[in-house]
Amino acid sequence: MGARDEAPVTMPVNACRHCVIPEIDHFQRWTEAAGWHGWKAPTQAQIKARMLARRANRIMRKAGAR
Ligand SMILES: [Zn+2]
Repeated sequence: MGARDEAPVTMPVNACRHCVIPEIDHFQRWTEAAGWHGWKAPTQAQIKARMLARRANRIMRKAGAR
């Protein structure tokens, strides 16, 4: 069904504050900015941005679905 060609993956709303891994499969991760870290709740601003991005993404996908 071409699911792989779908628009870029939107970040999960509950993805870590330091990276893009959702809480459920985060464990320990390394990023340049944060070094080794456990999952950290995203900030309100991050949550909001992600929800907006997700919504925009959905709208765009709908518009492009022909
Ligand atoms: Zn992380």
